[in-house]
Amino acid sequence: MTEDEILKIFREYSALLEGHFILSSGLHSDRYIQCALVLQHPRVAEQLCVELGPKLGELGAKTVVAPALGGVIVGHEVARALGLRALFTERQNGEMTLRRGFHLEQGEPVLVVEDVITTGKSTRETANCVEDAGGKVVGIGALVDRSGGKVAFDVPKAALLTLDVKTWDPDNCPLCREGKPAVKPGSRPGQPKPA
Ligand code: ZN
Repeated sequence: MTEDEILKIFREYSALLEGHFILSSGLHSDRYIQCALVLQHPRVAEQLCVELGPKLGELGAKTVVAPALGGVIVGHEVARALGLRALFTERQNGEMTLRRGFHLEQGEPVLVVEDVITTGKSTRETANCVEDAGGKVVGIGALVDRSGGKVAFDVPKAALLTLDVKTWDPDNCPLCREGKPAVKPGSRPGQPKPA
């Protein structure tokens, strides 16, 4: 699939909205990404991860590890596409941990997989958690890299969509200055509809 075909899927399920948004961080943006809206359809989730998985397939990973909650479905479907194990990390007292009896062998090669890379913070926390558990991170994957590709890791990274999503402080937002009403996505089920 080309990036345009992937974009079309995201737009079709309203997982990528264009307009004027108030993000959960309080910043304003002209685009809003909600991967859960594509991932709610298992066949679409599978279709996307069958595209993403092979981009990381040559790295020799044995296991995929994804941060809960956002990464779980992507991790599971990428692991399915590559025939690997799918584990997830979760926060306990704010710290990313591997729980539920999940175990990594010493030196086990691991892909860390996410739905969206924004700053790379949760990806790095997951990677650190994998390394602390004895695993070796060999690659990073995400459906969307919304840093415009600027977030770098010291292992190969693959994303289906690379978007340079701009954000602004509300005081400094050009869309506010134009008088465009801002919407807070995800606050009500089925909201917002693009203007
Ligand atoms: Zn604004």
